[in-house]
Amino acid sequence: MLLDKLKHYFGYTSFRKGQQEIIQQVLQGKDSLVLMPTGGGKSLCYQLPATIFSGITIVISPLIALMKDQVDALKRQGISAAYVNSSLEQSDINQIFQQLAAGEIQLLYIAPERLSNYYFMQGLHSLPIQLFAIDEAHCISQWGHDFRPAYTRLNIIKEQFPDIPVLALTATADVTTRKDILQQLNLTDPYIHLDSFDRPNIRLTMADKFQGTQQIISYVKKRKNDSGIIYCNSRWQVEKLAKSVAEAGISCAAYHAGMEVEIRNTVQESFAKDNIQVVIATVAFGLGINKLNVRFVIHFEPPRTLESYYQEIGRAGRDGLPAEALFLYDENDAQRINKRIEQGENLQRRHVEIQRFSAVTGFIEAQTCRRQLVLNYFAEYTQTGCGNCDICLDPPSQFDGLEAAQKVLSCVYRINQQGGVEHTISVLRGQLTEKIKQQGHDKVSTFGIGKDKTLSYWHAIIRQLIHLGFLQQDIANHSALCLTQASHSILKGEQPLLLATPRLQKASYWRKTAE
Ligand code: ADP
Ligand code: ZN
Repeated sequence: MLLDKLKHYFGYTSFRKGQQEIIQQVLQGKDSLVLMPTGGGKSLCYQLPATIFSGITIVISPLIALMKDQVDALKRQGISAAYVNSSLEQSDINQIFQQLAAGEIQLLYIAPERLSNYYFMQGLHSLPIQLFAIDEAHCISQWGHDFRPAYTRLNIIKEQFPDIPVLALTATADVTTRKDILQQLNLTDPYIHLDSFDRPNIRLTMADKFQGTQQIISYVKKRKNDSGIIYCNSRWQVEKLAKSVAEAGISCAAYHAGMEVEIRNTVQESFAKDNIQVVIATVAFGLGINKLNVRFVIHFEPPRTLESYYQEIGRAGRDGLPAEALFLYDENDAQRINKRIEQGENLQRRHVEIQRFSAVTGFIEAQTCRRQLVLNYFAEYTQTGCGNCDICLDPPSQFDGLEAAQKVLSCVYRINQQGGVEHTISVLRGQLTEKIKQQGHDKVSTFGIGKDKTLSYWHAIIRQLIHLGFLQQDIANHSALCLTQASHSILKGEQPLLLATPRLQKASYWRKTAE
């Protein structure tokens, strides 16, 4: 019978993995939590039962902009559906309630805000409701990246409708968020469907950010026919990067919550229709992107949690074809985020955020398969490397780094610990910048001793020296590099020093254009 309905209303001949079991649980009146990747087919899990129920299925969704499309699509399939959100007049809503009472509507989409409307709730009580489906259920978790205050009111469902089953669905929820969803919705002994989170077609690549804007431009220019999304953490950074990328002749647009809704919608549509190659955005660009052929997602700055990282990269390659998630990393970005987290006022929140961000830095510094690390974070344990991340494809090797380290440290010493990373590298590479001339750093004995190596090479070496405690950045003095107690044994050559071979030496991204 389920297969008949599937064929009749949806035109499909078989269920996808998990769908049938979920639907059976829902039909038996059980509460359920469904974790399935985007594009996995979550909607069917409530839409198909809705065609079988004699009563009404209520779908709670934060995606107001998509409700109309979804409802129109259902109507075309012969399923009676309607939506109620802030775009409707009270008279329209009244009319929908009349239709609901007359049994003319099987599926009703609502925004979560509705549940705090007394009259609306009274209205619901008078109707034969058979299921509450909660889409994007992770929005309930305060610790998550998409937290919606209106979602915290969803506890009212079980309070007021204790006997009606609830189906919570999401594409992203780490272990903490899952617990939060179950607890806040007060689901009793729920059926849990946990699909694999793996997206093997997305290549995970981590690279040092040394000339961020240039790196982005050269990356995108090599992929003229590919759509992509570039995530930044602030509106300011989005605007700035979008300006430079546009000036380089790349078809792109900015997207963030500070922009007019109409403009945002236009950007989203143009991107969907391939009229814009790249969208440079904050996390505001996300929910509801319905585009299958996004070929790359770039993180220009680190996300705060692995959960949001994974959700954001998940927008790439939904057609199953090869795609890439590129994460450009600069130590300073991470420091800035850590500082901001530490300034947070709520102690408990701060604690959770610190923990979550440390998982991100663990990912950044990983020396083993990155995909394994992320999947483990979602409690999906895997034994073997994925073969499609930068670590698997190009395992880190070590080299005797003593001489390189000595060059850096003695250069820092010669310029009296007065230069930041960029300046120090310029001295090492013998570049006659204004600042170098002004400060006479072209006269020091270490000027040009690192000429034979690239900018990114020295970046990688210096980053490791900072990690290992052989260098520090003086925050009080424009992040100038300075020596530490430990530096001396390196300078005197009293201890061996193994460093990881700088990865960008081998990576093919920017070799041609950026260096
Ligand atoms: P999600 O909400 O999990 O992101 P959707 O419910 O939007 O995913 O489904 C993604 C796509 O998969 C839709 O185009 C949907 O019609 C299709 N789909 C869902 N179930 C099946 C199925 N059993 N067979 C074939 N296609 C399906
Ligand atoms: Zn791997």
